[in-house]
Amino acid sequence: MGSIQTQFKPPAFLNGQPKLLLIDGQLVPAASGKTFKTWNPSTGKVLAEVAEAGAEDIHRAVAAARRAFEGPWSKFKPFDRQAVLLKLADLLDQHFEELSTLDTLDMGGPIARTSAGRRRGIALLRYYAGLATATHGHTIDNSVDGNVFSYTLKEPVGVVAAINPWNGPLGLAIWKIAPALATGCTMVLKPAEQAPLSPLRLGELCLEAGIPPGVVNVVTGFGEAGAALAAHPDVDKIAFTGSTEVGQHIVRASAGNMKRVSVELGGKSPNIVFADADLDEAVPGAAMAVFNNSGQICSAGTRLFVERSIHDEFVERVAAFAKTLRVGDPLDPSTQLGPLVSDSQLERVTGYLAAGKAEGAKALSGGARITEGALAEGYFVAPTIFAGVNDGMSIAREEIFGPVISAMPFDDVDEVIRRGNDTPYGLGSGVWTRDISNAQRVSRGLRTGTVWVNCYQTMDPAVPFGGYKMSGYGRESGAEHMEEYLQTKAVWLKGHPMKR
Ligand code: NAD
Repeated sequence: MGSIQTQFKPPAFLNGQPKLLLIDGQLVPAASGKTFKTWNPSTGKVLAEVAEAGAEDIHRAVAAARRAFEGPWSKFKPFDRQAVLLKLADLLDQHFEELSTLDTLDMGGPIARTSAGRRRGIALLRYYAGLATATHGHTIDNSVDGNVFSYTLKEPVGVVAAINPWNGPLGLAIWKIAPALATGCTMVLKPAEQAPLSPLRLGELCLEAGIPPGVVNVVTGFGEAGAALAAHPDVDKIAFTGSTEVGQHIVRASAGNMKRVSVELGGKSPNIVFADADLDEAVPGAAMAVFNNSGQICSAGTRLFVERSIHDEFVERVAAFAKTLRVGDPLDPSTQLGPLVSDSQLERVTGYLAAGKAEGAKALSGGARITEGALAEGYFVAPTIFAGVNDGMSIAREEIFGPVISAMPFDDVDEVIRRGNDTPYGLGSGVWTRDISNAQRVSRGLRTGTVWVNCYQTMDPAVPFGGYKMSGYGRESGAEHMEEYLQTKAVWLKGHPMKR
């Protein structure tokens, strides 16, 4: 059995030295001297040693962010913040190959996918650069006696703690940093322990872009580091993306000093296909709504509801499509599905594959880990569509976060809206139809932060994204995102009485 990636020359960033914390513009080891390993999920081998932040490091990073917020960064006018964001966008473009390769090595996303993130990453930075100079309060006509003028100011909320998951390390880091910089906040970013490399490299590029030391700090570590950050009394806001369970810890931890909180959490999104849909579009659309990134996307359309008259034919076609997908070395540009991020994620997903079968569902494609050839060394799972699923099965109720579709038939619009909403989550949803009235009814009826009609996972920096229900609150992207990082201050200004 041959191995993959044996001939590959890794980016210079992986120079064999331990990767350090970025605090106050300096690369420093953890105060404890501890490190942890980050692994390549394609090969099961160690990629790098990374500094493991503890409470003391978190405290130093928060103090640096506070000093920068009150010091040099506060002197940056909107135009200056715009300039460094634009510079960072250029540097991102210049270094994108290195960054996307780091993500592919660290979390297994196919290079075709991580490279395609270039446009979005740059677009995000340029979009927020635009908003940096477009933020404004209001003058408000009031009815109090006398000559009293009232207006609002928009002010940065302060020191932001950003805590991220591993499924899009670079893109998620940019999504947090860009609005912080645009609004004048400072940040301590804690990337996921499974994929910390590209966020660390991005932190270095922030310094190169002329962003003052302490404005963006990157601390790598485990949940304990995240918990110390979430509880820290000098953090003003937490921007968290991750699981609903950890999101609940975050909300509780925020109570100590009443931090502002935005939480982007898990999902079990319904994707609904009507018989009148363009099936040639809907088949790959429904498949890739889940199989992209090997199913490790929060808004993946994992509950596939298909109108009964086309159900059997449709699910067979999705299974046939799944069998054509190329699962393999994510560094190969033709690969469509890479490995899952870690052995524990593999265990979780294969656990659900076993549970689905035990509960009576039938895998029309995939259904198992890939154990032949060189891929056996990594955490690869074949794209799977389960038929014969009912609403009560664990594979229809719980977030799997792997390449697994649970397909179910439906008979009418009201029924599918009710079943689509029968979940604690409310992140994304899809509907495939040529009937405008069905599209309208379903998009109104579903309680989800995003509804995609005849498409799925379409994103843009200007369009808000976020959850209903236990998928969280707050929005990322769009004008709404800026509000998450801003305070509104009302000012009352009493002048001399006006002569009439
Ligand atoms: P996770 O919740 O286990 O971890 C996320 C981050 O929180 C990591 O950095 C982790 O170290 C940190 N953390 C763990 N325990 C903590 C604690 N007690 N206090 C503070 N921080 C803590 O999630 P994950 O497994 O990395 O990612 C998968 C989850 O993320 C899925 O549920 C997925 O749906 C969700 N997700 C949501 C979105 C969205 O936009 N809604 C996007 C991507 C991923």
